[in-house]
Amino acid sequence: MAKHPVPKQRSTSTRSRTRYSTWKTNELKRLTKLSRTVPCPKCKQPRRPHTACPTCGYYRGRVVIDLAAKDAKKVKTIKA
Ligand SMILES: [Zn+2]
Repeated sequence: MAKHPVPKQRSTSTRSRTRYSTWKTNELKRLTKLSRTVPCPKCKQPRRPHTACPTCGYYRGRVVIDLAAKDAKKVKTIKA
């Protein structure tokens, strides 16, 4: 007896292709969402929405990341 999962029935090429096509569109959607950026209102550099700007450290009109301190000792910041 096989000790690993064995498919009960053969999956047809149509079924496999259909499954892959949906997976592909979903994955592409996910990846485009991940790389979505908006220009920073202060320095106009692209940043991820709803996050502090990695270039100038501004978020909603005030400094939230002290970039001088960040350079001094590598403080963990929000990924952009
Ligand atoms: Zn900025």
